[in-house]
Amino acid sequence: MVKELLAHLFKKPATSKYPFVKAEVPEGFRGKQVYDPDLCISCGLCSRDCPAKAIEMVEVDGKRSPLFHLDLCIFCYQCAESCPRKAIKSTAFFELATTNKDSLVLKPGGPSQKGECVQQ
Ligand code: SF4
Ligand code: SF4
Repeated sequence: MVKELLAHLFKKPATSKYPFVKAEVPEGFRGKQVYDPDLCISCGLCSRDCPAKAIEMVEVDGKRSPLFHLDLCIFCYQCAESCPRKAIKSTAFFELATTNKDSLVLKPGGPSQKGECVQQ
């Protein structure tokens, strides 16, 4: 038993020190979406195919664009699969916990981040 105890003392811990040490995510990780309005042709396929009904098509500067409700999103990335223009991409950003539900609405475009959905 003492031998086993000593072995465990010098073993690498099974848990990580997150959030004190930033967690690494694997390649292809499905985090928060980014959207490129220059590629979008307003077809609405992303919204139609979203199984969680998390994408609403809204009018922005006279163009229909996807608005993401991340509180409904299950991060399946069917929207990116369905998009014929590859206008939706994933990011490694996953820290979405919030007490303000409105901050989980990603509106297309924005003054400071043209070409990305911005968290309001
Ligand atoms: S990742 Fe899935 S659930 Fe989220 S918006 Fe895209 S299709 Fe909908
Ligand atoms: S599927 Fe792609 S091109 Fe069509 S509305 Fe959605 S983001 Fe735009």
